[in-house]
Amino acid sequence: MNTAIILAGGRGSRMQSDIPKQYIQLGGRPLLFYTIDAFEKCSDIDDIILVASDEYMEYCRFEIVEKYNLKKVSSIVVGGKERYDSVFQGLKQVHDRNIGNVLIHDGARACVNEDVIKRCIDGAGQYQACIAAVPVKDTIKVADAEGFASHTPDRKMLWQIQTPQAFQTALIYEAYKKMYADVQKGNITDDAMVVEKYTDADVKLVMGDYHNIKVTTPEDLDIAKLFLNI
Ligand code: C5P
Repeated sequence: MNTAIILAGGRGSRMQSDIPKQYIQLGGRPLLFYTIDAFEKCSDIDDIILVASDEYMEYCRFEIVEKYNLKKVSSIVVGGKERYDSVFQGLKQVHDRNIGNVLIHDGARACVNEDVIKRCIDGAGQYQACIAAVPVKDTIKVADAEGFASHTPDRKMLWQIQTPQAFQTALIYEAYKKMYADVQKGNITDDAMVVEKYTDADVKLVMGDYHNIKVTTPEDLDIAKLFLNI
């Protein structure tokens, strides 16, 4: 059993748009449609849980899931304040939290493809926890508080992290529960951090795809159109 949790509960303020980025129309359909459709079409995905904000619940149900007949979407739930709150709302909907794998994916990564999804499923089966990632192309520097270059990590060791992030369901659910019990959890920006911090499991990096961009700023919409061939 492989369940995808697709996150669309954010506001996306960096897009400078009135509507959140995942609902922007591209080729006549909302961006989020393409994201869900990639999982819908992947034969190894059994079930999709969509997490949206309160005011977009009806839109998701009627204008995306029903309109485009996305049959694998079993539930649409309201997200939370932070990304991790939205993930936890999704995790609570997973039918059986003792078996199978969960793939957590950003709704704004509409250009994800079946190969990446399958590599993540395989990775979760083999390693319990894995994340899609690509080697960085640029040199990355760490800056100090004054904006001066402080040091330059070896580029060969650096990976840019994408989603899906895939885990055995029981592992990620227990990790999230421990995170909520921790008053000093700090800034949690991805799911792998939760597993790294609250379990003994090692998170494997599996090859993502340079096409698998997170649509974040206005110019990303042009790139997504090109990659989606629409
Ligand atoms: O803000 P960021 O781009 O990192 O968000 C990643 C994904 O998480 C997006 O698809 C966004 O809709 C989702 N998200 C969410 N609930 C939040 C914040 C972000 O579902 N509270």
